[in-house]
Amino acid sequence: MTTASAGARRRIEAIWAAQPESAPLLALLAAAIEAMGDPAWDTMAGEAVLGFDLPAGQPLLAGARLPVARGVIDDSTRTLCRRAAESGPELAMLGAAAGAHDLDGVALLAATLNGDDAAIERLATAVDVAPEALAAVGSVAAMPLLQALRRRFGGLIPADWHDGACPICGAWAAAAERRGLERARRLRCGRCGADWAAPALQCAFCGESGHEALGVLTPEGATEASQIETCDRCKGALKSLATLRAWAPDEVALADLASVELDLAALDRG
Ligand SMILES: [Zn+2]
Ligand SMILES: [Zn+2]
Repeated sequence: MTTASAGARRRIEAIWAAQPESAPLLALLAAAIEAMGDPAWDTMAGEAVLGFDLPAGQPLLAGARLPVARGVIDDSTRTLCRRAAESGPELAMLGAAAGAHDLDGVALLAATLNGDDAAIERLATAVDVAPEALAAVGSVAAMPLLQALRRRFGGLIPADWHDGACPICGAWAAAAERRGLERARRLRCGRCGADWAAPALQCAFCGESGHEALGVLTPEGATEASQIETCDRCKGALKSLATLRAWAPDEVALADLASVELDLAALDRG
């Protein structure tokens, strides 16, 4: 059983105070982090079976069998919809979805984990909400189970995994940490919280290591601690933040949200 880390609790308060525009996503993340305290997720993760003969380069959960407790997932998905709806007018439409008979939490989880946008669109139509809103709920609703799976399988991350995609759940790294005095580069997954090493001068997306292709942007007004790593070859951009200590696993998505100004700066520069 887990409860919110001190780092996550501090960040939730700081984001409420400083970024009112982030309220809808913050409400969802705060509700998901609260839900992580339910021991049912670890029970489900304990019954997961990894796929046999996984080809190299595939995340650990590719081809895994995940027996799910439908009641837990449905309840948790409905709670997220309700909390998102209460956060303001932007996601108010999810209030009706929270009570809708047709809201299928397990189908939403499967569509999210498989990256099946067409399925999310069908599910959204069934409960009459915008697909983007339901997709946001889906990606946050998957977090408690994925974090439990990372607790169970995190020790199996191959030491030579330096890819930008999460070695456990396959999501793109939310950000790189440059951690501690030695500035060790660690990639972090915002969904499952995974933490893996990456060489300092290598693009996380295409593997490019030529220094003429790799760059670092420090947006106006940001300090040297907050940068964007860029790659001319694949046009990839990754947030890179100096940290004194590792972010707690449940803190990664919040650290990502707290540095949204870097995402905007990266978009600005194309
Ligand atoms: Zn992950
Ligand atoms: Zn690249």
